[in-house]
Amino acid sequence: MELYARTIAEVSDLLRRQEVSAVEVTRDVLRRIAAVDGRVGAYLLVDEAGALEQAAAADRRLAAGEAVTPLTGIPLGLKDLLSTRGVATTCASKILADYVPAYDATVVARLRQAGAVFTGKLNMDEFAMGSSTENSAYQPTRNPWDPERVPGGSSGGSAAAVAADECLAALGSDTGGSIRQPASFCGVVGLKPTYGRVSRYGLVAFASSLDQIGPLTKTVTDSALLLGGIAGHDPRDSTSVPREVPDFREQLAAEIKGRRLGIPREYFVAGMDPEVRAAFDQAVAVFTGLGAEIVDLSLPHTEYAVATYYLVATAEASSNLARYDGVKYGRRAAGVDNLLEMYYRTRAEGFGPEVKRRIMLGTYALSAGYYDAYYRKAQQVRTLIRQDFEQAFSRCDLIVAPVCPTPAFRFGEKLADPLQMYLSDVLTIPVNLAGLPAISVPGGCSRAGLPIGLQLIAAPFAEASLLQAAYQFEQATDWHRRRPPLDV
Ligand code: GLN
Repeated sequence: MELYARTIAEVSDLLRRQEVSAVEVTRDVLRRIAAVDGRVGAYLLVDEAGALEQAAAADRRLAAGEAVTPLTGIPLGLKDLLSTRGVATTCASKILADYVPAYDATVVARLRQAGAVFTGKLNMDEFAMGSSTENSAYQPTRNPWDPERVPGGSSGGSAAAVAADECLAALGSDTGGSIRQPASFCGVVGLKPTYGRVSRYGLVAFASSLDQIGPLTKTVTDSALLLGGIAGHDPRDSTSVPREVPDFREQLAAEIKGRRLGIPREYFVAGMDPEVRAAFDQAVAVFTGLGAEIVDLSLPHTEYAVATYYLVATAEASSNLARYDGVKYGRRAAGVDNLLEMYYRTRAEGFGPEVKRRIMLGTYALSAGYYDAYYRKAQQVRTLIRQDFEQAFSRCDLIVAPVCPTPAFRFGEKLADPLQMYLSDVLTIPVNLAGLPAISVPGGCSRAGLPIGLQLIAAPFAEASLLQAAYQFEQATDWHRRRPPLDV
């Protein structure tokens, strides 16, 4: 098997036994990018020189046998909203076209310290607003399984790059589903950690009470390894929680026998593709075969989740994005002769239509006279949604559900109707509102050959148990072994 097609765990073993070098692995991945990215469009920037330099440094560490981690010498891709010192970070927005951060995000700094290699920056919906990566100001990313279809979003570049073997794994961010949904559409593993588990310092903020960074990988083992590399308290993010980070990989083998898996009734929404439903039913049968107990659950406030999210997320976005005013960051409109016009023109030229829509919605929800009716009400409903989950977890250990009502859709299919796009997040958004960890694993395939993900949701900070169940499912099924038809 080619090196690029392998997993973190496999390559890490090869590196430690010095059967290959990090430079060889990195060159192989760079060749793969050159061979397929013209068809996929996952990368906004490939940092060939930087990657080879980091790989050479990793080889020196490996040769000296010093401070080697499972991520030393591993080529990883980064969603382009993670600040990388000296390397452009655009958020797929024109307004940050020329922005080069002066510092690394904490997750990037941790991975750098672990000896990882960064292949480049991955495409996304502008400022992570979207579900298809069609909102990138730069390029479309194609689903490696079908070039006519979207890879999902907003971490579409990250999911597509992992599926197309253009990096061994990647980081994405999940505010309302942006790791899990593209993972489901592209047939990879996507983990959204508990709010507070991973530092967001240096993540360009979209909605600060929801955003989390997490891994997109080819296997659950790799997810455990990469989560271990980025998790943990960071004094630079006041929302990060000082809590011990277990060895997630070591704990993967625990049995699922006797564990209670809850199925929320409300998640079988009208309009769910029958193939998604069928894949889900089969997945549940796999779990019962492994000895899990199935519990029928109700999460009664689910129907309000999308509306709640689009008030909270847009409100926070309107505030977070106020900083892009042409003064300190990125683009400034040319040929203006007063300050106000500079603000107007900079923002009018720099932001795309979806970002403008969110800023307007959020500003409206926060404005005097509407705040109580919209923003405050949304916060109250958010509490009810969180309580639904608290009650559910007194009756079950984990929740299982589909990730998205449909497999990957076609370009343009939902672009003209923002509400249709928003509604497709109905099964991922409640988790963000409640701050819970959740994972999407390959869990089926449509007749047309498109991947279908399975979602597992756990109580706060129960990532270890989430990964265990995902691992047991993965070992019992072959979905993760399917590869997209890119070479034929
Ligand atoms: N699709 C959702 C949105 O557009 C979620 C995006 C995300 O998780 N970043 O807001």
